[in-house]
Amino acid sequence: EEAIAKLPGLDPSALTISHSITPQVLTPPEELVFGRAFTDHMLSIEWTASSGWLAPRITPYQNLSLDPATCVFHYAFECFEGMKAYKNNEGAVRLFRPDKNAARLNNSASRIALPSVDAQAFIELIAKFAEMEQRFIPAQRGFSLYLRPTLIGTQRTLGVGPPGSALLYVIASPVGPYYPTGFKAVSLEATSYAVRAWPGGVGDKKLGANYAPCIVPQLQAAKNGFHQNLWLFGEEEYVTEVGTMNFFVAIKDKETGKPELWTAPLDGTILDGVTRDSVLDLARERLVKEGWIVKEKQFTMSELAEAADDGRLMEAFGTGTAAVVSPVRRIGWRGRMVECGLKEGVEAGDVAKRMKAWIEGIQYGDEEHEWSYKV
Ligand code: PMP
Repeated sequence: EEAIAKLPGLDPSALTISHSITPQVLTPPEELVFGRAFTDHMLSIEWTASSGWLAPRITPYQNLSLDPATCVFHYAFECFEGMKAYKNNEGAVRLFRPDKNAARLNNSASRIALPSVDAQAFIELIAKFAEMEQRFIPAQRGFSLYLRPTLIGTQRTLGVGPPGSALLYVIASPVGPYYPTGFKAVSLEATSYAVRAWPGGVGDKKLGANYAPCIVPQLQAAKNGFHQNLWLFGEEEYVTEVGTMNFFVAIKDKETGKPELWTAPLDGTILDGVTRDSVLDLARERLVKEGWIVKEKQFTMSELAEAADDGRLMEAFGTGTAAVVSPVRRIGWRGRMVECGLKEGVEAGDVAKRMKAWIEGIQYGDEEHEWSYKV
């Protein structure tokens, strides 16, 4: 048994750094467009089935060079994460719940036969990288450095099998606030002709292969005048998630009139969003005291429509790393509009507003919290 000793894991102490000799001139914060500008460096760690994780490297940001037969191009051996580093006006850089991203990356990787990482080592390396690139993070509320850990199979083969080699790399993109001029409620088109995920499938994994098929329904929604699409599931038309966000509704109970916060359960058909989990935790800690009931439950589009008709639908919002919360004004469904409780001229409901303030307060370090990881 000693002979099949454990392969080397991620080792932050073996990190080597080579600095860019052509540092960029920073883009003015107000000109930042999501995912267009990248920092001077990238973090890369190679893995092989025989040697485990090799020494991590931070190098100048550069192209990859891969053989056209590399398995990632043919069979989609790719998963990724989305997370941010935040800087407050004292210059302190923080990550938000990076342990959740590490766990989700491992959950995704294991489903497609890619190697897993030690969460602590992963977080240390990301923190080191974020620290090194901190000049790119504007020290203003709403701005951040979006981090994109990406794991790909790199074996050069057309044979369909587990990749014998892999590459984990992390790139970083400075981003501005999702709503530069304050909340703007969006409209959704409930998509019934296409399905994002199904029980036993991979909808709860952050695989690149889950995202390309979402673009056409998104374009269809846009063509019909909606901002994003809402994914339904099954003949019952269960409400699952919005575009690339989880989805919450605040509803008054039919019998008691008590306010309830609902979101779909982690049944394998939705992504386990870090923001979703944070909203649920904060709701259970802070809203329950005010008489709210918090439920992870399946609910249908017709239940929402009925609540809207009765005036019981208080608000609806999406949650995700990009926007924190994104209020929803209306949902187009079966040729009708389901109005989600926002009065005209009002761009966000009470729960959405408070959740955004609470979560950002933790992300930027205004509130000391165990979710905030100081770099
Ligand atoms: N659902 C999907 C399909 C997503 O891509 C994302 C973004 N990662 C989310 C939900 C929200 O997850 P998080 O709160 O971790 O950003």
